Amino acid sequence: TPTMAKSKFEYVRTFETEEKLLPNSWIVVRIDGRAFHQFSTKHNFKKPNDSNALALMNKAASVVMNEFKDISLCYGQSDEYSFVLRKDTTLYNRRAPKIMTYINSLFSASYVFYWSHFFKETKLKHPPVFDARVILYPSDENLRDYLSWRQADCHINNLYNTTFWALVLKGGLTNAEAEKRLSGTLSSDKNEILFSEFGTNYNNEPEMFKKGTILLRKRVKNPKHGKTRVVVLPFHEDLIQDNFWERNSEILGI
Ligand code: ATP
Ligand code: ATP
Ligand code: MG
Ligand code: MG
Ligand code: MG
Ligand code: MG
Repeated sequence: TPTMAKSKFEYVRTFETEEKLLPNSWIVVRIDGRAFHQFSTKHNFKKPNDSNALALMNKAASVVMNEFKDISLCYGQSDEYSFVLRKDTTLYNRRAPKIMTYINSLFSASYVFYWSHFFKETKLKHPPVFDARVILYPSDENLRDYLSWRQADCHINNLYNTTFWALVLKGGLTNAEAEKRLSGTLSSDKNEILFSEFGTNYNNEPEMFKKGTILLRKRVKNPKHGKTRVVVLPFHEDLIQDNFWERNSEILGI
């Protein structure tokens, strides 16, 4: 009300600072679940990869991407998701806290909202919590290297976790024994353990587990009436190689 606006308390507003993000740079917001190692155990996530949990992450990220049209790509794996906003976005005047908190709270609220669609038997035992950060990348190369870093992280962790849980669940080792067995091993050693001891060819593991999930906007045609519309679609493929960026040239605008 006008009376409140003119109160003697009004001056405290001048303590607020504006944290505006540098223009003409890629804005990345990454969220990550707090203590999801514990959260996943408490909610009986299948180890090493619970497909329903990943599908719920993807759903929550899709809600965010559908709400904020300036997000051109999302990348998710495990309990984390990265949201990439166009270099020229003017969303909330590029105010970092607004962008970061809206993305994080819409993601978190959607995760809870859709929980029961993906976990029919398991009740949510406590509210899941996600942290968030904002990072600016001035060049396309920096942005690509950021996404490559997250996808390489997904690969390294997934190879480790796949081997670890094979040793525990199929090999009968304790967690401590499996950890000890894997300490100091190279990727090639883990591939070899999986193949020779468990008959598992790592290459044949599901692409979503090995590569994570990329969400992109694509124009699709409705086969019934031929009208086209833009929808958010998931992809589970390599984004480190150049050809991903050539096939999806609209993202970098090249
Ligand atoms: P913005 O996104 O800019 O915050 P806003 O619509 O949320 O927009 P606020 O200034 O935050 O605007 O005001 C919140 C509004 O929500 C109030 O003006 C009122 O209309 C409504 N509101 C919030 N809490 C209640 C409540 N407990 N009962 C009735 N109305 C409420
Ligand atoms: P922090 O609070 O520091 O992020 P954290 O326990 O969440 O701690 P992360 O490094 O973020 O640690 O790792 C997330 C953990 O959540 C994984 O190591 C794994 O144990 C578990 N997790 C996440 N998603 C899944 C999934 N889909 N299936 C099985 N386990 C999962
Ligand atoms: Mg962490
Ligand atoms: Mg975490
Ligand atoms: Mg994590
Ligand atoms: Mg409000």
